Amino acid sequence: MPQSSDEKFVRRTIELAKENVSKGGRPFACLIVKDGEVLVESPNLVAQTHDPTAHAEILAIREASQILQSEHFTGCDFYILAHPCPMCLAAMYYCSPDRVIFITTRDDYSQFYIDDRKYFTLVNFYEEIHTPWQERKMPMEHHPDPEGIEVYRLWKDLN
Ligand SMILES: [Zn+2]
Repeated sequence: MPQSSDEKFVRRTIELAKENVSKGGRPFACLIVKDGEVLVESPNLVAQTHDPTAHAEILAIREASQILQSEHFTGCDFYILAHPCPMCLAAMYYCSPDRVIFITTRDDYSQFYIDDRKYFTLVNFYEEIHTPWQERKMPMEHHPDPEGIEVYRLWKDLN
């Protein structure tokens, strides 16, 4: 359910993304809000850093986890310009915030911005990850080694 403070944070997310575009960055931004205050904010920095994981949400999660000293984002809300990509969606499931508020859908922005890669497009991605690994577009090989499972045995012994 939308809250009264949402409007302010939505405005700030849009402003941050606009600033990023005007500086040569990509049109995405993320705020993480806790207790009515902005805990962290980040634009997408892929263009500036060449790091394909430098999406706004991922950068904000990295910084917020250090401030919170936790991987669990209880009491936090995400404000993001666009419906999250599969990487960021998964990362948000990992940190489990209270809410994720997104401003534009992929349909809204697709006439202006397309995000696709060698092995996937945002349209076929979910189909691709449901595909058995042997049939995925990205070549994957299973190389079994009995020592591999020993790492897990060690983890279990130590935990
Ligand atoms: Zn993303």
